Amino acid sequence: MRRSIVGLLALTLATSASAQPPAGQPPAGQPPAGNRGPGGRRGTPIKPGEQCPPGTTEIRPNNCMAPEAAPPSILDYRPRSTLVTAAHLVPRAKYPAIDFHGHPQGLLGSADGVAQLVASLDSLNVRMMVAADNMSGDRLTRALAAIAASPHKDRVRVLAGIDFRNVGPGWADRAIKQLEADVAAGAVGVGEISKSFGLSIRKPDGSRLKIDDPELDPIWDACARLGLPVFIHTADPEEFFQPIDYTNERWLELSLFPERRYPQDRFPSFEQLMTERDNLFRRHPKTTFVAAHMGWHANDLPRLAKMLDAMPNVYTEVGAVLYDIGRQPRAAHDFFVKYQDRILFGKDSFQPEEYPYYWRVFETRDDYFDYYRPYHAFWKLYGIDLPDAVLRKVYFANALRITRRLPQTGWPK
Ligand SMILES: [Zn+2]
Repeated sequence: MRRSIVGLLALTLATSASAQPPAGQPPAGQPPAGNRGPGGRRGTPIKPGEQCPPGTTEIRPNNCMAPEAAPPSILDYRPRSTLVTAAHLVPRAKYPAIDFHGHPQGLLGSADGVAQLVASLDSLNVRMMVAADNMSGDRLTRALAAIAASPHKDRVRVLAGIDFRNVGPGWADRAIKQLEADVAAGAVGVGEISKSFGLSIRKPDGSRLKIDDPELDPIWDACARLGLPVFIHTADPEEFFQPIDYTNERWLELSLFPERRYPQDRFPSFEQLMTERDNLFRRHPKTTFVAAHMGWHANDLPRLAKMLDAMPNVYTEVGAVLYDIGRQPRAAHDFFVKYQDRILFGKDSFQPEEYPYYWRVFETRDDYFDYYRPYHAFWKLYGIDLPDAVLRKVYFANALRITRRLPQTGWPK
């Protein structure tokens, strides 16, 4: 399957006359490698283990052929699924959920905005949004005032931001003071610490601020002392750090959004960032960390399992990685059951119509259904059929347990 998709991509992209063909592609205008092999035999033979030539696909073992018609581009190939199977749409979560990864996009600016946000949340059975907009000082106080002024004050909580600019002598004292003030104003945790921490933020001397920089140690210790979970987004999907060729799973996304590429000459590698992140987690065992986006290991659950086993202070959150959870329903089911105390629900980008895809993956055993963002994933999703006890923990109980400042009453027993 993988090979034939790659072949299709290869041919399609090589037919664009203006672009220089990437390595391994036939020059523009030249037909793909032959449909007639030696002696008139159909197809092009390959040796065992070899890939088919660009523009062809393996039709029999070790024999490749090009399609007769010009193949569609990956944008235009939209096969209609003929699979007839039960479909269970889940517009509302089975239990009231806490969205730990909220970006309410300006709706916290006024009591009207809060009312609009809450109307959306009601329709989804999200009882509480934790706004992870890295707010601090005046901005945080204004958001908290708008929430307090609305009749929905128990529906939204806010995380405090940390300003990583100018890390040097005196920085930690200032940052801790600000954090204490933000907590006194009503912040319930820290975050979302953005991916720029690690990828691009610099110290005054111009060097990259490393995630495990010891000058930051006092702030992480302060988070432990104040009982604040630290919600942190590190790096991005590993494919964003890889060359953009036709084997890259995120080719389309990286081509649509070039700013998501992290070429090695300008950015630290994925592994470098993961190493620094894990050093941070390990060095502060009393601080609770929540690794956003399943730490970008949702495509490598054994790695995430190892991390959770080794570091009991680490939790994880599912925002924006549904495409990886839903493509491995059996492994993901087992992972969620085993680590049911360590996983929090979060959505990231606030698009109310997208939440039901999460509910469907978590709550049903549906087969082969569409994901909401086709450029993320060239595959379908499957339900992972979580037991009720696990759903309750992932939807709200874990977030309540690690965030003692969240309203603790009124949740299902
Ligand atoms: Zn986020």
